[in-house]
Amino acid sequence: MFSSNSISNILGIGDKNLVLTGKEIFETIKSVKYCVLNAILTYEPSHCPHCNSNKEGHNIVKNGSQMVKIIFNRAGNNPILLRVKKQRFYCKSCKKTFMAKTSLTSKGCFISNDVKRSIIGDLCEFKSIKLISKEHYVSSSTVNRVLRSTEVTNRKHHLPEVLGIDVPTGH
Ligand SMILES: [Zn+2]
Repeated sequence: MFSSNSISNILGIGDKNLVLTGKEIFETIKSVKYCVLNAILTYEPSHCPHCNSNKEGHNIVKNGSQMVKIIFNRAGNNPILLRVKKQRFYCKSCKKTFMAKTSLTSKGCFISNDVKRSIIGDLCEFKSIKLISKEHYVSSSTVNRVLRSTEVTNRKHHLPEVLGIDVPTGH
């Protein structure tokens, strides 16, 4: 069994709000054997992301949790699946809820940023999308999505600060 610290090191988890619970188990999902780890993500939020109210006393309270899965690069023989119990918060000021955030993934994404970086690295080496998806245990459409996300970033990067727009003149 790994210690929580060594696993965090292996996965490159720099998120102190994420605490691994229990030991790793092996589970076969769609004929792939994953090393599954359970974790809890929680912290005291400083403010509400909806109305920007600062947390003072009991205006922002814990409000259940949601289970999410995050896929990591393999460490050893099996790909790693992190099953995270994410804390949900409720803001009494605006009566809205929000989820605990982690730097491991983008919002609403189950592929860790670590895997995305690795996929981008492979795309630069002109490997086929089929091979990349197989090696990272994700679908081809996921690889395509990662590819498109880099294109958007590049495009944004190369946009001139001032756009020349042709406005019809005269008359
Ligand atoms: Zn609020």
